[in-house]
Amino acid sequence: MLTDYHVHLRPDDEDTPAAEYFTPANAERYRAVAAERGIAELGVAEHVHRFVQCLDVWQHPWWQRWATDDIDAYCAFVREETDLRLGIEADFVPGREDRMANLLEAREWDYVVGSVHFVAQDAVDHEDFDVWDRASSADEVWRRYFQTLGEAARSGLFDILAHPDLVKVWGADRPRPDGDLRRFYELAMDGIAESGIAIELSTAGLRKPVGELYPAREFLAWCVEAGSPVALSSDAHLPDHLGYRYDQALELLDSLGVTELAVFAGRERRLEPLGATV
Ligand SMILES: [Zn+2]
Ligand SMILES: [Zn+2]
Repeated sequence: MLTDYHVHLRPDDEDTPAAEYFTPANAERYRAVAAERGIAELGVAEHVHRFVQCLDVWQHPWWQRWATDDIDAYCAFVREETDLRLGIEADFVPGREDRMANLLEAREWDYVVGSVHFVAQDAVDHEDFDVWDRASSADEVWRRYFQTLGEAARSGLFDILAHPDLVKVWGADRPRPDGDLRRFYELAMDGIAESGIAIELSTAGLRKPVGELYPAREFLAWCVEAGSPVALSSDAHLPDHLGYRYDQALELLDSLGVTELAVFAGRERRLEPLGATV
């Protein structure tokens, strides 16, 4: 079994209206590419901030700018007009756990992908509200990011912890802390281990300035040791991103002795043997 669960049906650009991308023809384009690449378990996880209902959770100005679509229309489209698994990529917003729980529990997902894109009001992976503009040091940014990641895992809101070391996304374009990075991973480990959340191995970092898998080998090794199941995804924003450089991800999993992947339906998790089915 190969999975791709953290998938977006459209790019993160302006002028990508739901009406144009949430269509059976577009879903079919994704399904066709996935089939070519041996990915049997395919699901979508649109960004929560693209839906007006997210503003009941958080009124960050960046969310206000993007929140235009109806979340229930998205769910109905995926369920009624496609054969894709239904997921969502939901942010962890500290202090707003109850509100996010209300949004999530009101819909019947196959899985919820939990992400840390912000530390407090500042963004980790985009240049508006850039956390690096006001940071006093790389250590501070990384510490805040991994503390928040651990809280996200511990919140119990999510089935899969997305792109677990996203803070490195900019690569050489932003400072990187010196020395052994495990002192940062450690900040998230208790939350990850205690929650039992599945850890996403994402090839999206290979398409970003950092040019690495998320998470780093040392971080994933710790999670595997702690008993975390692995969820494999590409974070595709186009059909052609599906299964992007999975060879590299599979090599890493093999080297860590991981032989099974997490598979989800109705927010129930099971493990399936890893491997392509063409
Ligand atoms: Zn994300
Ligand atoms: Zn994503």
